[in-house]
Amino acid sequence: MTFFAPGRVNLIGEHTDYNLGFVLPIAIDLGCRATAEPLDSPRLEVHSVNRHEVRHWDLAALPDLVPSGDWTDYVLGVARLLPGLAPTRLTVESNVPTGSGLSSSAALEVSSALALGAAERGIDLARLCRRAENEFVGVPCGIMDQYASVAGVEGAALLIDCRSLEIRPVPLPSGLSILAVNSMVKHELGASAYSDRVRECNEAALSLGLSSLRDATAAQVESLDDPLIRRRARHIVAENQRVLDFAEASAAGDRQRLGRLFAESHLSMRDDYEISCPEIDFLVEAAGRAPGAAGSRMTGGGFGGCTVNLVQAGFEEAFEASVRQAYRDRFGIRCDVYRVRPSAGARQIDKKT
Ligand code: ADP
Ligand code: MG
Repeated sequence: MTFFAPGRVNLIGEHTDYNLGFVLPIAIDLGCRATAEPLDSPRLEVHSVNRHEVRHWDLAALPDLVPSGDWTDYVLGVARLLPGLAPTRLTVESNVPTGSGLSSSAALEVSSALALGAAERGIDLARLCRRAENEFVGVPCGIMDQYASVAGVEGAALLIDCRSLEIRPVPLPSGLSILAVNSMVKHELGASAYSDRVRECNEAALSLGLSSLRDATAAQVESLDDPLIRRRARHIVAENQRVLDFAEASAAGDRQRLGRLFAESHLSMRDDYEISCPEIDFLVEAAGRAPGAAGSRMTGGGFGGCTVNLVQAGFEEAFEASVRQAYRDRFGIRCDVYRVRPSAGARQIDKKT
């Protein structure tokens, strides 16, 4: 049986998911395909076509395995949570660029879980895959990536309330294309800085006597004593409001407001949350000077990866050429550009038997 699970581009709402706030991702048309075939011997065999690697484990050993710190953790993290796993050969193949903020990890987790026979669907499937990433991979991520991969809707963005877990599809204005521009850099700082931000937000919430920053007001945030903690919390509170404003402007077709919200979100990530980097800041500035530009900001966890860009339809090629040239002139790096479309969530892609 073969399942496909998409990656995602987060339009706006960065680092708000683990603060139980709002996010607005789209599932994209890039994703991971996972095929399961029965095996004779009692083991789990996993083949990553991308990595040209095959690894195997005795099924009986799965509960006691410790993470090995590589790609297999994503698959094993999921496999360990599935009761009565049958002997299986799992083949995974993805066209989501890895480590670029488009969530190749959630695509891998969700497609693997489905192919390995997980009974869960919808939010329960997203929760299972998030648990694998939190507990086995060791990334304290929120629910956004896995939920977007599971629940994607063709042609619409997903307004997710990360506390109630309610999802509302939000239409995007016609005549705008979404382009992800890959900086092709990922600064090492990323992994530890992510955990730092989670901790800093928890500290801010605790200081305010709240269980999460979801309920903090802008006035409360400005009362925080520690300037660093104050800036972190300021980003979260303002970003939550920007997600709601973006959803409203998108449904109303107000493109200028969309562009302004992208710009504000980027500055907030750069200056208050401090998760950008020179390459990404340059790509955002270069996008602003490119033909057809309607908005640009970093997307994903940060410290590299991709920017997400709104581009007037018909200008995609000119936009891409302009940004590519500028980036190459400045950093000597060829960036990849993906034109992405809001797509359906995870699904079986071979014939049901
Ligand atoms: P992102 O989710 O933004 O792509 P992450 O660091 O969260 O970045 O996840 C990337 C990791 O996921 C890769 O380094 C790799 O370990 C794993 N991964 C994703 N897709 C595959 C694949 N097809 N084969 C093997 N590993 C994969
Ligand atoms: Mg990831």
